[in-house]
Amino acid sequence: MNIAMIAHDQKKDELVRFAMAYEHVLQNHKLYATGTTGTRIAEATQLEVHRFQSGPLGGDQQIGAMIAENKMDMVLFFRDPLTAQPHEPDIMALIRLCDVYSIPLATNTGGAEIFIHGLERGDLNWRSLVHGKEEHAID
Ligand code: PGA
Repeated sequence: MNIAMIAHDQKKDELVRFAMAYEHVLQNHKLYATGTTGTRIAEATQLEVHRFQSGPLGGDQQIGAMIAENKMDMVLFFRDPLTAQPHEPDIMALIRLCDVYSIPLATNTGGAEIFIHGLERGDLNWRSLVHGKEEHAID
């Protein structure tokens, strides 16, 4: 599966710890991340992470583009609800696209843990059938 990982600055340590704890699961999947988040995960684990631009410089939108092409299967987005973000519109757009394409989106550790167990169990294996296929035709 293709998995996107994003963490706001105050949540980066938490996502790095999560990636370390579940490295044995994540290593079986293709990982994508916004720039700084990806660097932090790659430094702390043996995981290979494709790094997009940093979030404020368009990384969220690049992940959104993959969702729009039905190429992203899960998004782990550890958001900081207590700090204003300069790229709030991009964040909202990413969340919206997850809803448009029914992509599982976890915005905190609690949800991400449930997701990762589902991933381990193969709950998302059906997604390989829809990779890259257009889901909606809107005139
Ligand atoms: P970053 O982007 O991983 O490059 O810090 C995440 C964000 O803050 O949106």
